[in-house]
Amino acid sequence: MTERMDADVIVIGSGFGGAVAAARLAQAGHAVLVLERGGRWRPGDFPRDPDLRKGWLWQAGGGLYDIRWLDRMASVQAAGWGGGSLVYANVFARPADGALDPRWPAHLRREALDPYYDLAAHMLEVAPTGPDPRTGRVPERTALVEDLAARSDIVEATMRPNLAVTFGDPEQWRPNRHGVPRRGCAFVGECVLGCNHGAKNTLDHNYLAVAEAAGARAVTDAQAERIEPCDGGYDVHASTPSDPEAPERRWRAGKVVLAAGAIATTELLLRARDVHRTLPGLSRRLGHGFSGNGDFLTMAELRRRTGDAADTGDMTTGPTITTTTVLDVPEGRESVWYQVQDGAVPMPLRELIDSVIPGRRLRARWRRIRGTDRRRGFAVLAMGRDSSDGVLRLGDDGNAVLSWRTRWQAKLHRSQSRVGPLLARQFGARMSNPPTWSLLRRTVTVHALGGVPEGEGPETGVVDEYGEVHGHPGLFVMDGSRLPAATGVNPSASILAVAERSVEAMIRRSGRTGWRAPEWDDVAPAPVPEDAAFDFMAERRAATAGDGVGFGERMRTPRRRAPVADLRLSARIRSMDRFLADPAHPIAVRGRIDVEGVVTGADVAGTLSLFPEGRPEAMSYALTFRDGDGRDWKLSGEKTVRSRTPVALLRGLTTLHTRIRPAEGGPEEGVTAVVTIGLPELLSLGASIRGQGFTRARRLRAAARFAAFFAKSALRSTDDPAPPARRPPTRPQSDAVRPLRSRPGGVKVDVQCSAGTEGDGHGFR
Ligand SMILES: Cc1cc2nc3c(=O)[nH]c(=O)nc-3n(C[C@H](O)[C@H](O)[C@H](O)COP(=O)(O)OP(=O)(O)OC[C@H]3O[C@@H](n4cnc5c(N)ncnc54)[C@H](O)[C@@H]3O)c2cc1C
Repeated sequence: MTERMDADVIVIGSGFGGAVAAARLAQAGHAVLVLERGGRWRPGDFPRDPDLRKGWLWQAGGGLYDIRWLDRMASVQAAGWGGGSLVYANVFARPADGALDPRWPAHLRREALDPYYDLAAHMLEVAPTGPDPRTGRVPERTALVEDLAARSDIVEATMRPNLAVTFGDPEQWRPNRHGVPRRGCAFVGECVLGCNHGAKNTLDHNYLAVAEAAGARAVTDAQAERIEPCDGGYDVHASTPSDPEAPERRWRAGKVVLAAGAIATTELLLRARDVHRTLPGLSRRLGHGFSGNGDFLTMAELRRRTGDAADTGDMTTGPTITTTTVLDVPEGRESVWYQVQDGAVPMPLRELIDSVIPGRRLRARWRRIRGTDRRRGFAVLAMGRDSSDGVLRLGDDGNAVLSWRTRWQAKLHRSQSRVGPLLARQFGARMSNPPTWSLLRRTVTVHALGGVPEGEGPETGVVDEYGEVHGHPGLFVMDGSRLPAATGVNPSASILAVAERSVEAMIRRSGRTGWRAPEWDDVAPAPVPEDAAFDFMAERRAATAGDGVGFGERMRTPRRRAPVADLRLSARIRSMDRFLADPAHPIAVRGRIDVEGVVTGADVAGTLSLFPEGRPEAMSYALTFRDGDGRDWKLSGEKTVRSRTPVALLRGLTTLHTRIRPAEGGPEEGVTAVVTIGLPELLSLGASIRGQGFTRARRLRAAARFAAFFAKSALRSTDDPAPPARRPPTRPQSDAVRPLRSRPGGVKVDVQCSAGTEGDGHGFR
């Protein structure tokens, strides 16, 4: 006889995946039982005492943080009703498809998942950080980063991410969308310690509240230890973490959703396959594809004040994370992308760290001597696309250990570690890495992912595309372990979206075809600020491939010639790769121009085509400027090398014959002028050539490529391949100005064309 079921579905774990599963299954009318090893944490419960034994560590009396040493990496996660949301930094981010590993299948990419991201954003009521309602200003950390971004040429790469935080009046409790009271953020920067104020939109205030309202039963202090198939479903055996002597409990259900987090879920399945042998047929791929999401931590300690009266120097205010900057940095021959976020380091955490690291007094004295103000410290949190090739297996003690090579991520970490010195220069900050990195070369991840890969069958994956375990119908996996590789961005939104899609399919497969979450009708597509930052960096990556080069040049009319013109230009190649690949070899130039009788000190901009292929001239300029009367002018001109003798070469490369005429004038209007680069200007031109790139080596390489191109092209550049000796003498170009008649608004001149084919080239026509 079939034994009585305790529920239709048992959900193990109440983090992101578990909360979605519990809410949706309960809404769909299933009897749901949620087992959670930790307890409930309410505002005011979260630990603040600088004593490690007082509520901090899961391993020490069932505290909030579960810190695991996986041998090759450390991992931090939370234990409690709401899982990682209790301590997370609230960032709700979607990965850009272009940045994802090829292992991400189409059904987990943005096009397929965006509706589910929108649904999750609606459930969590996300919004970016705004000004603190009490001061009317954004947090100083935010201002610091945004100010730095504004001074850079990648301002569009910095944005304020969506946060699962309630903003508004910090004193007033108001019901959220799910009827649960929340207050506006108090900007105390303690999100990662658990929010004692009641402003974080943690899962217990949305998905889990919805689940319980729909009848889901929560059993906290119940740690699943063993899963075994039984008649019509599965038995889940659990211990009682608060009382190790308590007898094991057992619950039975037709279906089980595993959502204990990437490490614990993988561990439970590994034990079921290899130790308890209750699920011996689990795929050999189990444990594979583990990722630390490229997490890399740097600490910054600001030294000097900005001088702004509003600068109180306090970097601890605001939500934990307020900005994201997307970077795409050349590293070796490739480009490495990752993102960087500012992180508040709250004082209670500092005090806790102080209490556990020996030499407290000595360090306090050292800080006084150095004048360190600890409120001026903050974290720089980087994450990106790591190799996602880790393998979790059971160690001798029955717990997971990780096979991982830090050197697989060498490029990513090398690049991430350059951010510290860069900020140190910009902010005058002291930067440091945690000892786990500086001494042991081990990273600490707060974003453990993978371990339960999907595949079409057990040979290639543990689960199918909806998370159902191959060979074990009714057993599902719906947490971070399901993600096929790093998201490179904060992953909880992806875990939510994947779980929403999976549980919807699970409900539909159970007979309720066409079922959809009741909230869908109210969901509006949410803004995705990270997309613009990714798009900007993707375009910049293409536009700066191979790094860039910049230089300045000045050309003036030689003495005793007229009209006198003076051109001061700065030229910039953003991408040497693009520059070399384009047969016109175009360079953007801008600067100032004076032309006697036409304009004095006007801005000028346009293109210099350097050794354009298939063209007789060595350089062709196409510039525009506006005169004092608001009239637009065009300048076109060429430098032409007549022979390869050194003198002719030098003269050809330094003498520009120009035609300057109104943009909308007749062909008879305008002037011609000759400008040349004198010896002093030639020397400063050479000295001004600068490679542009993230590292010195990259800058040098870009400058060297440019120099090589210039030298090679210059030696090849004559407008006639005939040897110089046999060339007929060339008639010198006249640069005289021959005014024909004067008309108001411009100078009428007899236009004398210099060498070069007008109307050709790659600038204006
Ligand atoms: C300090 C910190 C800051 C973070 N900031 C962000 C952020 O800003 N944005 C973001 O997207 N992500 C952030 N993360 C990561 C995020 O919290 C995790 O990616 C996410 O929680 C993983 O979700 P999950 O469903 O896989 O598992 P979890 O949320 O970890 O949930 C697993 C749950 O299962 C329970 N459990 C484990 N084993 C058992 C068992 N045997 N029986 C019963 N219950 C069990 C655990 O107690 C836990 O409640 C942060 C993480 C940390 C630690």
